[in-house]
Amino acid sequence: MADVVVAGAGMAGLVAAARVRELGAEPVVFEKGDRPGGSMVLSSGVVWRYREWERFRAECPGGDETLQRLVWERLDDDLAWLESLGAPVVRRETGNPLTTGLRFDPKGLADTLAHRADDVRLREPLVELPETPGILATGGFQGSPGLVRSYITPEASNLVLRANPWSAGDGLRLALGRGAERSAGMDEFYGRNLAAAPRISAGGFVPLAQVYARHARVENLLGESYEAGTWSEIDVVQWTARQPKARARYVVPDEALNEQVGDRTVADAIEAARDAGASVQTREGTTRVEVVAGITTTLGGIRVDERARAAEELYAAGADVGGISTGGWSSALAAALVLGKLAAESALEDAVS
Ligand SMILES: Cc1cc2nc3c(=O)[nH]c(=O)nc-3n(C[C@H](O)[C@H](O)[C@H](O)COP(=O)(O)OP(=O)(O)OC[C@H]3O[C@@H](n4cnc5c(N)ncnc54)[C@H](O)[C@@H]3O)c2cc1C
Repeated sequence: MADVVVAGAGMAGLVAAARVRELGAEPVVFEKGDRPGGSMVLSSGVVWRYREWERFRAECPGGDETLQRLVWERLDDDLAWLESLGAPVVRRETGNPLTTGLRFDPKGLADTLAHRADDVRLREPLVELPETPGILATGGFQGSPGLVRSYITPEASNLVLRANPWSAGDGLRLALGRGAERSAGMDEFYGRNLAAAPRISAGGFVPLAQVYARHARVENLLGESYEAGTWSEIDVVQWTARQPKARARYVVPDEALNEQVGDRTVADAIEAARDAGASVQTREGTTRVEVVAGITTTLGGIRVDERARAAEELYAAGADVGGISTGGWSSALAAALVLGKLAAESALEDAVS
């Protein structure tokens, strides 16, 4: 009999289970998919926080300040803990002057955590709550077109799911059934505008991202324009998701083609779009690229307190927890790490009391 039941073998669930086992108790992890790692193994693996607390508050003004504090204050120690378990670090900086953190090899991170968690049961979704303390870490609701339509956009069926296919709101449903509450920002999500290629598979989630709206004129298919307002361009993808067919066009002037975006230029990103078969037209000193909104992680979800508690003997972590990034974007992997570890410690207090 398990001391703690964990739903989801992604970032938050594996962290929680690894921590439960480290503290000498028995976790069991139920996983809906056919592999461990959730969206974490598809990710770029950058686990980060804003360097300055005030900047975090300013970037995510609608987020729960208590949860933000937890993530911001604990992240550096929790990153050291993760590294001490053997998780492979590939870079010691994020490449963004606003933020600090570590970049992990995502596959190595998943393997390390799954090994530590040990009892991971694949293709076994958690469908009802256990009698022992439970931790919900099912990764949000972006995989449910019905929930995305009711909370986020009527264009739900036109979005590209830029995430694992299994995170469909199971944690939210189970928590609400136990009396938990919804967080702020149920209509917000993190994602990327992707080159509107005929087929987009998981291998294209990073290379097909078009993150240069600040260097372009952004317009929907009706020609109505939008001005990018955030460094992460999260506002642009959320806007695109609500436009006809969840699509937009970036009109890029020639002089912007050499601008650097992350580790490549605007021209490189456009080349990847062209190679994948997206509509890319060059005329009169501009290049027009058609993009489609890709949804990665819902940012609204279960409301938890400073112990990661959602309801009686029920905890949540990762993208199942909402209300941390509200109004902007902060690292989902960081929140999953800090709250996953905390949820494990809180659930164990219940298990022994
Ligand atoms: C291409 C890409 C790049 C990204 N880059 C970054 C980045 O650099 N930095 C960053 O911070 N974030 C990044 N992210 C986002 C990040 O990967 C996710 O937000 C993060 O993995 C969320 O962690 P989680 O544990 O909540 O969910 P996941 O890691 O997705 O795990 C959830 C797990 O729950 C399982 N599950 C669902 N329902 C059930 C059920 N009923 N019972 C049991 N199991 C269930 C799922 O199958 C899945 O394995 C990226 C994501 C993608 C796709």
